[in-house]
Amino acid sequence: MRRCVKCKEKASIYLPHHRLSLCSQHYVEWFEERVQRTIKQFGMMEKRDRVLVAVSGGKDSLSLWQVLHRLGYEADGLYIDLGIGDYSAKSKELCKKFSERIGRKLHIVDLSQELSTIPQIKQLDSRPACSFCGSIKRYYMNLYAKKLGYTVVATGHNLDDETAVLLSNVLSWNLQYLERQTPLLEEKDGFVRKVKPLCLLTERETALYAVVTNIDYIEEECPFAENATSIDYKKIMAQIEEKSPGTKLRFYLEFLRKVRPALSSGTQPVTLKPCSVCGEPTVGEICSLCRIRRKLSVKTQNITELPDPSP
Ligand code: SF4
Ligand code: ZN
Ligand code: ZN
Repeated sequence: MRRCVKCKEKASIYLPHHRLSLCSQHYVEWFEERVQRTIKQFGMMEKRDRVLVAVSGGKDSLSLWQVLHRLGYEADGLYIDLGIGDYSAKSKELCKKFSERIGRKLHIVDLSQELSTIPQIKQLDSRPACSFCGSIKRYYMNLYAKKLGYTVVATGHNLDDETAVLLSNVLSWNLQYLERQTPLLEEKDGFVRKVKPLCLLTERETALYAVVTNIDYIEEECPFAENATSIDYKKIMAQIEEKSPGTKLRFYLEFLRKVRPALSSGTQPVTLKPCSVCGEPTVGEICSLCRIRRKLSVKTQNITELPDPSP
């Protein structure tokens, strides 16, 4: 029988890549300490920061919100209602309940009012929903963080998310994306600082934390998620991890330590300028969100589409 390394009681959790056995209570302590250490290690934020946590109703973002709150950060939530049927309705309710449980403010952005719902946008965009949904969420997170006076945006990306993206970027040697893959993106050119405090914790570890601390999260996947290619990369990483525990963590940390610094000095920094329509930062003349807005207005007015002015 495995025993908790802290209290010697019967262990209920074993973490193979840390060779660590813990009881539930000490697991919660270990998890929260690990988040605090990650925040310190990368200089993500201070207690004086105002933090906006991007919450989706899933285990990662709600666990992150709870940990930051318990660690004493001034952390509120931002939920973007994407209008994806029952999935959005249920996840919004769970976020509302959770904000009441921890006594922190939840801001809600209704995409149907701001732009249009994801299923409606999907009808006029041939790309997988996740590719434009991701940029829409980033746009509104940044916009509302600035509007509401938050200094940091925190997202619940975990080690599995980060290594899946890293593998995909390595396989295509996408140097610009690799250069931007970091748990801390400093405030710059109209972007609020962005941090990923769960980046060194696996999906399983976050799920365990959510279960042990009784977080009520949405278990269903977004209906558009099944087409996401990142799921395949996660499966591949999981197979390697099973054969060789610790690979995911090593892959990610060694990338940050050895490869990313070399990339930052060798790649041309991306020049950003204000979008000529909405003023938010973008690489082209018009940002991707305003291009979607333009397509939507063309559709509703039923007129011939204008040529796209962006490069
Ligand atoms: Fe958006 Fe894709 Fe996530 Fe669904 S799975 S919420 S479409 S990014
Ligand atoms: Zn214990
Ligand atoms: Zn714009």
